[in-house]
Amino acid sequence: MTFCVGVGKAKPIAASMFRFHHGENSIFLRTIFLQVMKTTDKVLRSCLPNEVDVMVLGGGTAGVIAAVQAARAGARTLLVEKTGMLGGTITTGGVNFPGLFHAWGKQVIAGIGWELVERTVQESGGTMPDFSDFRQRHWKLQIPVDRFVYAAICDEMVKTSGVTPLFHTMLAELIEEKDGWCCRVCTKEGLQNIRTKVVVDASGDATAVGLAGAELMRSENCQPATLVSKAEGYRFEDLDIPAINQAFAQEVSAGRMQVTDFSWNTDKVDVGPWLRAGGGNAGHIHGFDARTSAGKSALELEARARLFRVVRFLRSQPGLENLYLSHVSPECGVRETVTIRGRVRVGVEDYTSGRHLPDAVCYAFYPIDLHTAEEKGLDCRPLEEGVVPTVPRDALIPKDSRNLLVAGRCLSSDQLANSALRVQATSMATGQAAGALAAERGCQPHEVPMEDLYDLLEGQGAIVPRECMSSVAQALPPAVSGRSA
Ligand SMILES: Cc1cc2nc3c(=O)[nH]c(=O)nc-3n(C[C@H](O)[C@H](O)[C@H](O)COP(=O)(O)OP(=O)(O)OC[C@H]3O[C@@H](n4cnc5c(N)ncnc54)[C@H](O)[C@@H]3O)c2cc1C
Repeated sequence: MTFCVGVGKAKPIAASMFRFHHGENSIFLRTIFLQVMKTTDKVLRSCLPNEVDVMVLGGGTAGVIAAVQAARAGARTLLVEKTGMLGGTITTGGVNFPGLFHAWGKQVIAGIGWELVERTVQESGGTMPDFSDFRQRHWKLQIPVDRFVYAAICDEMVKTSGVTPLFHTMLAELIEEKDGWCCRVCTKEGLQNIRTKVVVDASGDATAVGLAGAELMRSENCQPATLVSKAEGYRFEDLDIPAINQAFAQEVSAGRMQVTDFSWNTDKVDVGPWLRAGGGNAGHIHGFDARTSAGKSALELEARARLFRVVRFLRSQPGLENLYLSHVSPECGVRETVTIRGRVRVGVEDYTSGRHLPDAVCYAFYPIDLHTAEEKGLDCRPLEEGVVPTVPRDALIPKDSRNLLVAGRCLSSDQLANSALRVQATSMATGQAAGALAAERGCQPHEVPMEDLYDLLEGQGAIVPRECMSSVAQALPPAVSGRSA
């Protein structure tokens, strides 16, 4: 019997040689075959660097930006991603409307994330919202992006900046060394060691920080998850919504469905908004620990089962017989798992007051936006007019750590502050800051002089918080709040 494992060219050739000559001189040919196999494995493995300056874990919203910034600053950068696509929650999670880059009519976040979003919009023929009209609901100032184009431009930016992307790979172990880390990654070929000076954890779940043994913080009630989808095949105008609601209420009282299958609301049986929007960022799934493989597996199963029962139910209703899902995200969107305990922790008052710390690395802007299991399912509190919060560098650095940074939603913050800081534009800005801090050599991330950091970030188009924007903002009428992240 002949086995041929792998996708490289040499293995199938070696296997067919072995099969063809099997009867003539099997021991000789077996030796050649095994040598070819060994060489092929070496070639495959040698595509991977043994040593880099920066290893970014997670090629999502923040991680792509961190990796591109580090590479553009001259660092040998490896980007490790567990899926086969960059973009994270924006692409595989289906939440393709990054926000907010503007506060009170003025741009406060730019840089590599903005470059990526602008290129995506241009390439896919999309349009930008009117940012000067900041009195509209905040979510209308988010930017719809085509998921495929976004991921493809991530690929291009990663390749042209010199980042080595490594897909279908996860981190298994992180061993601290004198001047950095030995990262044991789990590739399709098995475990491999890669040395790096700095690790940027952009996994969303602080996976690397946890493996490094640093402290993590978990809220008592984590925010719910949502599986994003798009439904088509019907005309909303033709539907009898009260009749469908009545049928749905019967399903709920019989225990076959839950109110939150269709909406964030816990107390109102109404399929109208779901059908008007065609699904989307709808429904809440509470009570799963999405940080572990077992917990995430249970969540994915539950999310798909719920969406399937929604589709089955709707297709049984008049006018919805031909309903189908034109998009279902490959992964259920996760709003919250853990945050790190950083050198500082951003509290909700730091955030809502727009307090400006001397180590601020970027601005941030979004209402407090906590998804809950009560009533409307959302605690949304717009910021006071003129307030523009900032993110301190020390919220990106785990307490008592060396050569370790985070970017994205798991930054050090209490739950309410995090409900706003987790959003995509801010995740991108923290990604760029972490990438720049990681690329600065010869000192620890918290020792990088702020002026050097600002220069590096401004060199890549970022807006840096040299001043407290909240104190210079004009007095403005309050913005109206509504649907949110
Ligand atoms: C349903 C929903 C709606 C939202 N709505 C909005 C909104 O309207 N506007 C807004 O701006 N924000 C919104 N958000 C919030 C925002 O999308 C996320 O908080 C943000 O994208 C998180 O970015 P991140 O880089 O931290 O994580 P992600 O973008 O999730 O990236 C993490 C990456 O790490 C990879 N990864 C994870 N673990 C490993 C591992 N062990 N090894 C290798 N790779 C790994 C993942 O595959 C992923 O690519 C929403 C979120 C959800 C879930």
